[in-house]
Amino acid sequence: MRSQKVDQRAARVIHRAMILNELRRHGPLSRTQLAQRTQLSTAAVSFVTADLIAEALLVEQSQQASRGRAVPLDVNYAGHFAVGLKVMETRLEAVLTDLSLRTLAGTTVEYADHTPQSVTAAAARATDDLLAQAGLGRGRLGGVGLGLAGNIDPRSGLCMSSFRLGWRNVPITALISEATGVPVWADNDVNAFATAERLMGRGKHARDFLVVTVGRGIGSGLVLGGELYRGGRGGAGELGHLLSEPGGRLCECGKRGCLEAYASEPSLAQRLAESGVGLHGPADFAALVADGDPRALALVAEAGERLGRALAQAANLLDPELIIVGGEGVRLGEPLFAPMRGALYAHLHAPEPRRLPLLVEPWGDDAWACGAAGLVVEQFFGDHEQGPPARAAPPALAGPM
Ligand SMILES: [Zn+2]
Repeated sequence: MRSQKVDQRAARVIHRAMILNELRRHGPLSRTQLAQRTQLSTAAVSFVTADLIAEALLVEQSQQASRGRAVPLDVNYAGHFAVGLKVMETRLEAVLTDLSLRTLAGTTVEYADHTPQSVTAAAARATDDLLAQAGLGRGRLGGVGLGLAGNIDPRSGLCMSSFRLGWRNVPITALISEATGVPVWADNDVNAFATAERLMGRGKHARDFLVVTVGRGIGSGLVLGGELYRGGRGGAGELGHLLSEPGGRLCECGKRGCLEAYASEPSLAQRLAESGVGLHGPADFAALVADGDPRALALVAEAGERLGRALAQAANLLDPELIIVGGEGVRLGEPLFAPMRGALYAHLHAPEPRRLPLLVEPWGDDAWACGAAGLVVEQFFGDHEQGPPARAAPPALAGPM
């Protein structure tokens, strides 16, 4: 009897995730459509959807039902909320979102140092401030998601190392959970952004895609088979440390010739400074590019080409359906993207290279923090995700190989 109960409970968890994810990708759908698409019985669908409606996770769109047609159901995106935090060296960017990752409120908390204690205090302050701005209590707050540059174990919430923050083995989710009184999930900032793209963004209908971020550093998130790929020790996706120039410029990581040493925003600004142009930061560099400064444009063109070549290597290895580009570097615009696309398609080993779309995500100041909120939203949709069906195999090429 007992094991039967356990089985029933496990089945319900799986059925919930199937229904929520089907609606997230293809909703709104009626109960009958849900049963057809998930291959669950109509009884199972009715049972699970009743639970989900009671928990404010699904909503009936009765106004859209007409003349005897079934009432469509959709995810109740406004029924629960998430806080997303991006930890930087001098400040914390914070947003409150709904389950669609739409921003409802935002704030920034600065700190004098980025010790775990300072970041924890800032996280608690930001959470209170966001809830007050939106006039909400903690009741429907699913939790806090934290994104930072570093190597994070998302299961334990331990920040194993962050070169940029100088952290080693910091139990950051436990600290912030104690300070805020809500559950906390953490991941590398690029992984968090890729998770948000997988759930609600341009990767929603894709099974295999790459997310690349260009900015302070260069990173990538790999979504393979509908899931974020972390690698054996959580270090997958270090696109910025692919070798771009053997024996070349010194990288922040201590090695020579990494892509990041040529294409990150600080390295572009530094190279321009070496050519005798005084700059006060990456924003100045972007302004010079926008003004058409020939030295800045030449450096950006070179960076774009190196990025495109690195993406082609990654795409040749992984065969993604699409590549999504984000990060502060997006503001450099076509001077970066035109050579990036050119090099990507020139080096791509595929019969029709241009069928691999390179999509640029318009970048707002709160995009990193919104990505971190995706770590909370992910919890609502469960981890029994099948991912969209695999692509149909391409037709066999005619003629001798
Ligand atoms: Zn490096």
